[in-house]
Amino acid sequence: MPTYARADLAFEKGVGPYLFAQDGRRFLDFGSGIAVNTLGHSHPHLVKELTEQVGKLWHTSNLYQMPGQQKLAERLIANSFADTVFFCNSGAEANEAGIKMLRRYQHVSGHAQKNRILVATNAFHGRTLGTLTAGYSEKYREGFGPMPDGFDRVAFGNLNELRNGITENTGGILLEPIQGEGGICKAPDGYLEGVRKAADEFGLLVMFDEVQTGIGRTGKLFCYEWSDMQPDIVSSAKGLGGGFPIGALLANEKAAAAFSPGMHGTTFGGNQLATAAANAVLDEVLKPGFLDHVLEMSGLIRDGLDAIARKHPGFIEEVRGRGLLLGMKTVPNNGEVVAKLRELNLLTVPAGDNVVRLIPPLNITKTHVDEALTAIDACAAALAS
Ligand SMILES: *Cc1c(COP(=O)(O)O)cnc(C)c1O
Repeated sequence: MPTYARADLAFEKGVGPYLFAQDGRRFLDFGSGIAVNTLGHSHPHLVKELTEQVGKLWHTSNLYQMPGQQKLAERLIANSFADTVFFCNSGAEANEAGIKMLRRYQHVSGHAQKNRILVATNAFHGRTLGTLTAGYSEKYREGFGPMPDGFDRVAFGNLNELRNGITENTGGILLEPIQGEGGICKAPDGYLEGVRKAADEFGLLVMFDEVQTGIGRTGKLFCYEWSDMQPDIVSSAKGLGGGFPIGALLANEKAAAAFSPGMHGTTFGGNQLATAAANAVLDEVLKPGFLDHVLEMSGLIRDGLDAIARKHPGFIEEVRGRGLLLGMKTVPNNGEVVAKLRELNLLTVPAGDNVVRLIPPLNITKTHVDEALTAIDACAAALAS
């Protein structure tokens, strides 16, 4: 269906951070299928684990015990704030489950009137009717109404506005700790802690959409760990399966008490193939030193971009983000920059606010960073004003 204006490019093979097109050209993949290919392409451990699982068991449904899913949940719990996890198939689905949990929590706590959720300007939460309503973009909603009700919007990063936005009908707050599609926008220091404080004061739950920021992308397993607070609910997807579709909703005991058997469900969610892939991803991401490596590579890219910005004024306006979730706000149109970089065999992804996202596999090395910087330097030389 005509849902994408696709580039005239088809790949037939991927190895590490490289993609090989049908015409033989080799591309350095700094888009990772939109922050999905956590370990690049055809990573030997992922290939081995998934291939073994393919020969054993694909799917049983959640009507039965699933040891692989149990193991994945236990590992996410051991490495986060969470006490419990629900698995689904995508980011939007994880967010839908979280929205249901926020509302239902207030319902079972005797505050059924607190069924509205505070969301942010510039937010993106997915393409279902509920997550479109939680998201900011009017364009994505146009013509799809009537939309569900129950969301109130405040300016991202502004604590005063957030506090003023809380009414007797507010039950929860839903935010991205770093806004991805919106243009890699980081909240000011202390914002997330302030959100927690306001939520505690007014009896609200805090949910973070970590679909893009999670699974090591920012140099921590989850981005909220950079702050001095803990959320009640976190959604995850994109990087979790390393390219295999899987989503997850993590919650603390308090929030999860909202659900009981039959309250929520999924046919495919967390099946044996998906959790084999995600467990294999965690085998690597949880290795000692892996996240330090993400930060080291991030530092190299940032230093290189600073040098390019000095050398070619009129190309880079600002570099944003954290870890390997980097956004380069460009002076030329970001679509033109992405197209030019693609000509130079470097794949990137545009985002809002004229940003070019640099979101490579997390296991890239210095060689790949240098190769990407060479392409960006050439692009700057061609497009700088
Ligand atoms: C990509 C994304 C989503 C939607 O995920 P899908 O898997 O496409 O449904 C939701 N929230 C954020 C922050 C995302 O980056």
